[in-house]
Amino acid sequence: MIKINENYLRLQASYLFSEIAKRVSAFQEANPERDIIKLGIGDVTRPLPPACVEAFKKAVVEMGEDRSFRGYGPEQGYPFLREKIAANDYHSRNMDISPDEIFISDGAKCDTGNIQEIFATDIRVAMPDPVYPVYLDTNVMAGRTGEFQGGRYEGIVYLESTKENGFIPDIPREPVDLIYLCFPNNPTGATIGGSMLKDWVDYARENKAVILYDAAYEAFIGEEDIPRSIYEIEGARDIAIEFRSFSKTAGFTGTRCAFTVVPKSCKAYTSKGEPYSLHALWHRRHTTKFNGVSYPVQRAAEAVYSEEGKEQTKSLVDYYLENAALIRERMLEIGYECAGGENSPYIWVDGKRDSWAFFDLLLERAGVVCTPGTGFGKCGEGFVRISAFNDYDNVERAMRRIKEALEGSQ
Ligand SMILES: *Cc1c(COP(=O)(O)O)cnc(C)c1O
Repeated sequence: MIKINENYLRLQASYLFSEIAKRVSAFQEANPERDIIKLGIGDVTRPLPPACVEAFKKAVVEMGEDRSFRGYGPEQGYPFLREKIAANDYHSRNMDISPDEIFISDGAKCDTGNIQEIFATDIRVAMPDPVYPVYLDTNVMAGRTGEFQGGRYEGIVYLESTKENGFIPDIPREPVDLIYLCFPNNPTGATIGGSMLKDWVDYARENKAVILYDAAYEAFIGEEDIPRSIYEIEGARDIAIEFRSFSKTAGFTGTRCAFTVVPKSCKAYTSKGEPYSLHALWHRRHTTKFNGVSYPVQRAAEAVYSEEGKEQTKSLVDYYLENAALIRERMLEIGYECAGGENSPYIWVDGKRDSWAFFDLLLERAGVVCTPGTGFGKCGEGFVRISAFNDYDNVERAMRRIKEALEGSQ
């Protein structure tokens, strides 16, 4: 009798987005004349930068011609792209990352989900709360957790991000082996300064732990003294794997291209306590299970690093940052405390009541859809995430309506 992987049965039904859709359509049905603005989305809305489109098209034409046709490319990604990444994202900021430490993939979602395969199942995993659900669910699937009780899985060390700690979790008191961190954070929008990030790096070095650093929103960092990469911190090369993506940086959510950095000096241990290269393991895993990102997509991603590409992606990011600043400013004006919205496209708003009650209030009074924080974990209760991924006009209209509806009605 064939059996299923019962770890999957421990997964919680992801009812967040279906519940949002249900409430929105019920509201729309009851109020057909009302216009609804969606500020709940974690997806970009602006088109690809023209430099990327040009490179993309040119590469498609190459694929259609005898002389320039290409079949399978290198599984790890074409050197032309890995060299540009190393030079522009790392060397230009004095980080010592070489092109062969970079693995091109079709998404940071897959990479942050798959990376846990190269670690033992009986390790202690530390997970932010609130969290991007991929990190948690893939560890549940792999059998690293017990039952789900009282909103949490047994066997996970939760790193609480609260108003009290400025949404930067404290270093755990108990020893942990694998630590997920994400800055600028989804959903809270929080960023981490160099000295606090150094505390995490030092902790990992002292405890022979590994940090998985999700920097998918790195492009939104404008302030010079906020680290864009964990490798800006001394010693991080030995204990950290970094994930980045062209999704939010350059509007590639539907085009699909990302990369993971696994430094050659990054080690974990065999059961006998001998150090082993994580680069070697991830290389083996990646080249066994993945056959590369399509050539035109890698050419489109390469164009992000051209002079025009840099300008165009910067103005794309600036566009969303302007939305974010407006959302943040308006919410503060009407007396709601927020995190994020600076160096981040997300604004994490203290709704002063439970998350779903605030969601309903914004929907019913202002016709604006946000995302209830409780969907990202226990510590998200009481908060909502407002996203800056939308047209400026829509954001402006939404914030005017929120202001009218909520001012003086708390
Ligand atoms: C959007 C996002 C990513 C990027 O995912 P892709 O698969 O590259 O599109 C990664 N991490 C977080 C936290 C995100 O929000």
